[in-house]
Amino acid sequence: MKKVLITGAAGFLGSHLCDRFIKEGYYVIGMDNFITGDKKNIDHLSNNPNFEFINHDVTEFVEIKGDLDYILHFASPASPIDYLKIPIQTLKVGSLGTHNLLGLAKAKKARILIASTSEIYGDPLVHPQTEDYYGNVNTIGPRGVYDEAKRFQESITMAYHTFHGVETRIVRIFNTYGPRMRLNDGRVIPAFMGQALRGEDLTVFGDGSQTRSFCYVDDEVEGIYRLLLSDYAYPVNIGNPNEITISDFAEEIIKLTGTKQKVIYKDLPVNDPMQRQPDISLAKKLLGWEPKVDRAEGMKITYDYFKSLTEEELYKSEHKDFTNYTTK
Ligand code: NAD
Ligand code: UDP
Repeated sequence: MKKVLITGAAGFLGSHLCDRFIKEGYYVIGMDNFITGDKKNIDHLSNNPNFEFINHDVTEFVEIKGDLDYILHFASPASPIDYLKIPIQTLKVGSLGTHNLLGLAKAKKARILIASTSEIYGDPLVHPQTEDYYGNVNTIGPRGVYDEAKRFQESITMAYHTFHGVETRIVRIFNTYGPRMRLNDGRVIPAFMGQALRGEDLTVFGDGSQTRSFCYVDDEVEGIYRLLLSDYAYPVNIGNPNEITISDFAEEIIKLTGTKQKVIYKDLPVNDPMQRQPDISLAKKLLGWEPKVDRAEGMKITYDYFKSLTEEELYKSEHKDFTNYTTK
């Protein structure tokens, strides 16, 4: 039985990856320190004989007993509010954490896949974004702690590949959504859905003309799974190219949820990228992968998930407005 270590296992993507690898017949070791994750996301695996969990901060030395075939490094705060609240931890998990996991991969002769992001392109001047675009990042802006940690992560991963011969994979993930996102993580989908469910107005930042392209989690996990098993060591975009402005997206959510509330406009956070759309030609050619779930279907499943939360969860996690911290 192949053994895989998944960091960030109690988070949104990490927990879905744990499910997928268990389904594929792997022995899964999940690791997390719960800084932005939730035990609830992996509770259903607690009695599974092919799953074990280690509560550990990956910025400290990572020790795993026995063999290891694969490592998927997904630990990292992933929403703008989270990396504003915990900027140093964000930098550390992308840099020190990645260094520890690459060291572990080298020691175990394991293949490692690291979770990079469309944020390495910053506020892109090339559209759609291809893997050969170097990006446009403000190193000292509020998002810099995340963007630069991820850029460093890619560099150190390539260095371990070229210098130490470690088998490495780099996935550049574009905005992914689905069940188990945290209602108060500030990202646009949980924010809008939480607002609709609580009967609050939907907060669009800026004039809403900025774009995003949203990928349903099952499609993202499929792309990641195929990339891990491929023999390609360079970065690959995995995301859904279906692009929409944030104001049109708010209207879609109003229709989906049937809320009587309206859209209100707030300041645009500093360095909020104006457009984002993955060019997925490489993933198509290399992995035979493209997304299958359209936004209407994915959003319905996601809304059903948020609707199933208890009143306590819905109100405990009231969306806090952090825009004051990020606008001048
Ligand atoms: P998430 O916040 O739900 O999950 C991240 C998990 O990592 C959490 O469970 C958190 O507790 C854990 N973690 C953070 N620091 C840790 C540390 N030092 N030690 C151990 N565990 C730690 O976020 P997510 O959306 O699931 O994102 C997962 C990964 O995917 C991140 O690396 C993120 O940068 C990347 N990514 C996600 C998206 C997206 O749209 N969801 C887009 C681009 C990249
Ligand atoms: N956004 C918004 N209202 C919110 C939360 C986010 O208009 O309540 C906008 C945000 O400014 C950005 C887009 O939605 O332009 C996506 O934001 P998110 O935090 O989900 O992801 P990212 O900016 O990292 O792509």
